[in-house]
Amino acid sequence: MSDYELVIAGGTVVTASDVFRADVGIRGGRIAAIGLDLKGDQRMEADGLLVMPGGVDTHCHIEQLQANGGADEESWASGSTSALAGGTTSAVTFSNQFKGRGVLEPLAEYHRRAKAGAMIDYGFHQIISDATDKVMFEEIPQVIASGVRSLKVFLTYENSFIDDKGFIRVLAAARRHGALVTVHCENYEAINWRTAALLAAGHVEPKYHAWSRPSMIEREATHRAIALAEMVDVPIQVFHVSCPEVATEIARAQARGLKVWGETCPQYFVLGAADMDRPGFEGAKFMCSPSPRDPAASAGLWDMIRMGTLDVISSDHSGWGYMSPVGKRIHGTNAPFSDIPNGVPGVGSRLAVLFNEGVTKGKIDLSTFVRLTATNPAKLFGLAGKGTIAPGADADLVLWDPTKKMTITNELLQHVIDYTPYEGMEVTGWPVATIRRGEIAMRDGKVLAAPGSGRFMARAPYDLIKPTGRLPFGFDASAYQV
Ligand SMILES: [Zn+2]
Repeated sequence: MSDYELVIAGGTVVTASDVFRADVGIRGGRIAAIGLDLKGDQRMEADGLLVMPGGVDTHCHIEQLQANGGADEESWASGSTSALAGGTTSAVTFSNQFKGRGVLEPLAEYHRRAKAGAMIDYGFHQIISDATDKVMFEEIPQVIASGVRSLKVFLTYENSFIDDKGFIRVLAAARRHGALVTVHCENYEAINWRTAALLAAGHVEPKYHAWSRPSMIEREATHRAIALAEMVDVPIQVFHVSCPEVATEIARAQARGLKVWGETCPQYFVLGAADMDRPGFEGAKFMCSPSPRDPAASAGLWDMIRMGTLDVISSDHSGWGYMSPVGKRIHGTNAPFSDIPNGVPGVGSRLAVLFNEGVTKGKIDLSTFVRLTATNPAKLFGLAGKGTIAPGADADLVLWDPTKKMTITNELLQHVIDYTPYEGMEVTGWPVATIRRGEIAMRDGKVLAAPGSGRFMARAPYDLIKPTGRLPFGFDASAYQV
C-alpha cells in the first residue's frame, strides 16, 4: 500500500498566491501532501496541465421550486453534470420563499432534492421575499443555525421584490444570527415605470429589456443597499455587478472600511445589450438581470477586478430553455420582453469563458483566476475546506489544459438547457479532469460521479462576516424584534 490513494503527478499547481510544479497526494478525500516524487495507489499524469482548486460557484439556480409547483428544468443531476464537466466541484444554490409562505418547509424540500441528485457539494442561500414576524423571528434563526449562513434578497422582480422595510428586517436578522446578506440590486419602481412606458410605446422586443433597466437604476439600488447595511452594520455581497459605475459604489464602501463585497459573472464580460437586438425571439437567449451593457462597461469591469473591488465571479446559472415550452417562450414568442423569464445558463461554461477572456488574453494571472473562481467565494461564504490546495483541504481539483483550443457548443456543457449564449465561442484553455473529494468525477468530458454523491456544506459561524461593531450612535437596533 502506498502513502496516498491518488497522486496527481507532475502538474503545475496554482493557488491563490503561488504557481509551482509539484505532485499532489490525496488520502481519504483530502489533500494529504504537496511535494515531489509522491507515490500513490493510483497515479494521474498532469504533465503540462494546471492543477487548480475545483471551481466554487456561489450563485447558481438549480432545481429551484416554482410558485405553481414543479421546479426549474435544470435538475441537480443535470446541473451537477454540467458543473463537473466544466471543472466546478461545489456550488451555493437557492432555497426560495414564496410570498405568504414560510421558509422551513421549502428548505426541507431543497435538501431532499439536492441529497438525491447532486454530484457536487452544495449549500443554499435562503431567499426572503416576505419578511413576516414568523419568518424573521422563528424560522430564520433555525435556517441559519442549520448551516445556511447567507440570506438573499431581491430589490426588484414582481414575485421576489422586498421593500426597504423588509430588507432592513432581513439585515437585522442576519446581524442577530450571524449571516451574510446577498443582494440583487435594481430599483423596482424605476424598472416598472420604464417598462410601462416602453410597452405603451409599442417597444416589446427582447432588446427593450436593456432599455427598461439602465445602469443608474442598478447603481441607485446598490448605493441604497450599502447604506442600509451600513446602518444595521451587517456584511453584504452585491450580486452580479454589471458595470464599473456600480462597482465604484462598492469601492467607496470598501474604502471606508465596510464589509461590502462585489460579485460579477462571465456574461458581463462577453455579452452586451446589443446581443438582445437580434431578429425575432433570438434576443431572449441573452436576457438576464441586470442587463449586459456594452464593451466599455466590460472593459471597465476588468479594472474593477484588478483593483480587487470585485473579487468573486459566479455564473448566476439560471436555466430557461430556448425551445422549451416552460422556458423563455413560456408566454409565447410574441410575448413582450417583460414577460420573458430572465437568466442565462453558465455553470458549465463559467471557468472556460473566464479563463479565455482573463488568462489567455492576458488580463489576469493564474492566481487571480483561482482567487476569483474558487478561493474567494469559498472564503466569503464560509465553505470550510473548499477553494484551495493545501494539506487537509478537500481534494477538489480541476486539471486544466491551458493550451487546448475548443469551440464552445451547448453539447459540451452537458446541462439540460437547450442553448448557451456562448455557442460558437472559441476558447483556449479547457478542463480535462475534475476531482471531487479525491474521486475522479470527470475525465475528458465524461462525467463519472453518481447522483447523490454530493454533500451538503453546512456553514458554521466564521470571522469574515462578523459585524464591524460600528453602529450609528452606538445603538444596535437589530437587538429588538421590530
Ligand atoms: Zn441569480
